[in-house]
Amino acid sequence: MSILSQAHFHNEEAAYAFVEKRIWPRGPVCPHCGDCERNSKMGGASTRIGTYKCYSCRKPFTVKVGTIFEASHIKMHLWLQAIFLIASSKKGISSNQLHRTLGITLKSAWFMSHRIREAMRNDGLTVFGEDGGTVEVDETFIGRDFNKKPKGEKKGRGYDHKNKVLSLVDRTTGQARSIVVDDLKKSTLLPILYANIAREAKVMTDEAAQYQQLGKDFAEHGFTRHGQGQYVCSVNPSVHTNTIEGFFSIFKRGMKGVYQHCGHNHLNRYLAEFDFRYNNRVALGVNDTDRADNLLRGVVGKRLTYQTIN
Ligand SMILES: [Zn+2]
Repeated sequence: MSILSQAHFHNEEAAYAFVEKRIWPRGPVCPHCGDCERNSKMGGASTRIGTYKCYSCRKPFTVKVGTIFEASHIKMHLWLQAIFLIASSKKGISSNQLHRTLGITLKSAWFMSHRIREAMRNDGLTVFGEDGGTVEVDETFIGRDFNKKPKGEKKGRGYDHKNKVLSLVDRTTGQARSIVVDDLKKSTLLPILYANIAREAKVMTDEAAQYQQLGKDFAEHGFTRHGQGQYVCSVNPSVHTNTIEGFFSIFKRGMKGVYQHCGHNHLNRYLAEFDFRYNNRVALGVNDTDRADNLLRGVVGKRLTYQTIN
């Protein structure tokens, strides 16, 4: 049977039940007052699907309140189709494709895909490299930051006008975390490393000057000399940043192939998408259905209005 023939992709009631089961694993919770006992599902032909009434605060609610689905007119089963398509495609899906496949307007598709990306965002409460694990750190440039103009006569040269991304990969857990940064100064990069990497970690970077002091701040600091063509340390082969280079190549292929025009303001959401896909990849035992389920669990507390993403 095709995965897409499942009821929650076609039937609105089944779609609500599917979402409720994942967001309220222990039964409905009133989003207004937090009561999880005194409520009941409202019936009747005039009641909207998935409406509950809370007897503590007397307010009605649905599972959409406080999630990326709030105030959206798109049917829940279409949201589930979009989530599955985005979660199961290796490089992501453009808004144009969603618009054509789901039969919704391009504007709706664009808004929907940004909200779904928001649901993929990991708030990053865990630190990398706990228990002395290894964390690779590297930066990359992607597209142009149109808020900045190229400087000087040699137009297009240099990296000042490009978007800059700092990524970390924890080799033990296989998780990645990416952050958009304004520049590559030590004063910008190091605080991010201190906030996201455990002191007992072994940190791997290239030879960039910004990282030279890391040996004092972390249990170990290994670096390769990319400038001299060295990608793996000849003395200690565990010193390299090849895992993160692999992550960047997936990210770049995806950004070039699917999302050609990504403004600086939206880049963090695309990064959340690529981090999410990497962190829920097949090699870590996550299949397409699990990945869509994990995405769905992230919809809570990520409400995004049209104004905030414009
Ligand atoms: Zn209530």
